[in-house]
Amino acid sequence: MTMAMRLRALAACAVLALALSPAIAESAEALPGPVKAAPPAPVAKPSAAATAATPAALLASHLKARFSYDPLTGYGLIEKSGERLCFALGVPWALFNWEACFPIDPPAGGEGGLSFSREAAARIEKSFAEADSLARSHFSIAAILIDPGHGGKDPGAIGEQTVAGKKIRVVEKEVTLEISRKLFSALKAKFPDKQILITREGDSYPTLEDRVEIANSVELASNEAIIYISIHANSSFNKNAKGFEVWYLNPEYRRTLVDSGKPGGPGHEIAPILNAMLEEEFTTESIILARNIMTGLQATVGADSQNRGIRADEWFVVRNARMPSVLIEAGFVTNSEEGRLLTHDDYLARVADGVYNGIVDFVGYFESMRGAPSP
Ligand SMILES: [Zn+2]
Repeated sequence: MTMAMRLRALAACAVLALALSPAIAESAEALPGPVKAAPPAPVAKPSAAATAATPAALLASHLKARFSYDPLTGYGLIEKSGERLCFALGVPWALFNWEACFPIDPPAGGEGGLSFSREAAARIEKSFAEADSLARSHFSIAAILIDPGHGGKDPGAIGEQTVAGKKIRVVEKEVTLEISRKLFSALKAKFPDKQILITREGDSYPTLEDRVEIANSVELASNEAIIYISIHANSSFNKNAKGFEVWYLNPEYRRTLVDSGKPGGPGHEIAPILNAMLEEEFTTESIILARNIMTGLQATVGADSQNRGIRADEWFVVRNARMPSVLIEAGFVTNSEEGRLLTHDDYLARVADGVYNGIVDFVGYFESMRGAPSP
């Protein structure tokens, strides 16, 4: 929105607010009383959108809201639990709670009474839904997106290990998928009311655009967040290297990454994911999420593996301010001991359990400690 558009919008809001407040107060008290002298109603122009119209009364009853409309003044009100939406016949603006003003297709009059276009009805419904969830004054994690690293044509790291005298290949894309699947079903069972998403369910290679689309497809209300969990396995020329790590983005590097367009390190395929939207606010949440997962992993696989700590680097990028994000390196496929462990289903189940416990702890923290409405 340009400044000029914003000014126009504000001016329209102010006019609408001034026009609506006495009329609504009057109509709310006076209806269906005697008709008073009133300004002429604005003329409603039938729009194309009006062809798919939702009667205002029907919308209000669907919302379980109170509806009042004064056909003489053309002013109307939908009210629910103290939240008020005001509108006027033929006016392309609606006013919510006397403060938020948004454009809508002008409400139209007609034989069936006042009606909204389908878009306007959806927008109005959304306003009430958002106010509703804010009123519940709870920040919540609405979705958890699990991203099994690599897949399809991209195997990720590969380790050659000997198990019972036989040479086997430990392939990162398989390890990450197995852990992710287990994590996915555990989270689904635990949080039936949250969206639990996974970027791939089989040996496919979701492109960057696919992953971005999945992340973006989650619609969040203003008090909702999404957690992004990327699962990887590590490799090293040093065959002794072993252990698990949890990464989050070091905020100081963010600008550098964006400015230089520099390709990243081990998480290269994730780095550009929505790199454009950088905000600092939730870095703390990412660190806490990383800590919780680290604690979870320490408890389930700490005795067999090695805790390499929490790391921060420039290649891992969060989607936006409402997306606490971490990347987990579950272990080294190149270490003979750990590489073998990473082929064991029960070991992968323990890794998944550790991550799961960390996420559950984080969700508890997030939804209670950040349980105040945003300012
Ligand atoms: Zn990887």
